[in-house]
Amino acid sequence: MFAEVTKVNRLTPGLVRITFSGGDLEDFISTGYTDQYINGYFVPTEAPYEVPFDLDEVRGLGAEFRPRPRRFTVRKWDNDEKTLTIDFVVHGESGYAGPWAQQAELGDKLQFKGPNGSYVPDPNADWHLFAGDETALPSISVSLEALGPDSHCVVFLVVDSQEFEVPVTSDASVDFKWLHRESTLEPSNLLLNAISEFEFASENFDIFVHGEASEVRELRRYLVSEYSVDPKTASISPYWRRNHTDEAWREVKKEWLSDQENDI
Ligand SMILES: Cc1cc2nc3c(=O)[nH]c(=O)nc-3n(C[C@H](O)[C@H](O)[C@H](O)COP(=O)(O)OP(=O)(O)OC[C@H]3O[C@@H](n4cnc5c(N)ncnc54)[C@H](O)[C@@H]3O)c2cc1C
Repeated sequence: MFAEVTKVNRLTPGLVRITFSGGDLEDFISTGYTDQYINGYFVPTEAPYEVPFDLDEVRGLGAEFRPRPRRFTVRKWDNDEKTLTIDFVVHGESGYAGPWAQQAELGDKLQFKGPNGSYVPDPNADWHLFAGDETALPSISVSLEALGPDSHCVVFLVVDSQEFEVPVTSDASVDFKWLHRESTLEPSNLLLNAISEFEFASENFDIFVHGEASEVRELRRYLVSEYSVDPKTASISPYWRRNHTDEAWREVKKEWLSDQENDI
């Protein structure tokens, strides 16, 4: 399916909120999962075709021109208006999705498949632990919005500095801890350091940890060893990997995940 950009809102210097309408969005079926995502197909600028395209056909044009698949969380689906909102991290000039979002203009089109998802906050948990970076902020925000006034959450979220923070809303009681990369020489340790210093209220907690691969892995190791978290049921997964394009990451991901099983 495909849709057209109808709103572009630069939330912070590192996050662009894009709203899509039209196209095939009449057929969009929300899963109800708070981490649901679409698989977008980003067309290289020099490619000789436009959205909408036949995926099998353009894949045959050769590696240089094939669309680059990238996953993005559904920040909001408005079923009445049939609009889809996605928050894109803009992280410089490398890659396809980030630069596409940085330059997005009204009328641009994006082709995608989905949505898929797998997480909703566990209603039986005493409290909810959310952790990650800007890429996890959309799914964490949707989860917080889904929680009622009796829920308690603690969120650890890494961004560059205060001007990269985005307000979140929730009926739940939320202890939101923004962690700033600019505050330390070793930003990749921010999440683990903050969480290992945090006093957990009880061991009946629900977990959602997503973001940069190595940071998520360190946290997974810690939570499994210190709190006997079951990694098979907890929602812990690497959304992207530093110094790897998504293609390079997907190529080694299976082996990396299997190696991760030896961490504990
Ligand atoms: C289920 C799922 C949901 C996701 N939801 C979102 C979402 O809602 N919003 C969102 O922005 N991302 C989200 N991501 C992450 C996004 O898919 C990746 O960041 C993706 O690599 C971006 O593609 P790109 O073409 O911009 O960069 P790529 O071509 O993949 O990478 C180019 C370079 O940029 C680096 N890079 C990639 N992402 C980042 C980043 N976030 N910060 C700094 N450097 C980066 C890479 O390491 C590489 O060196 C999600 C990922 C998954 C698996």
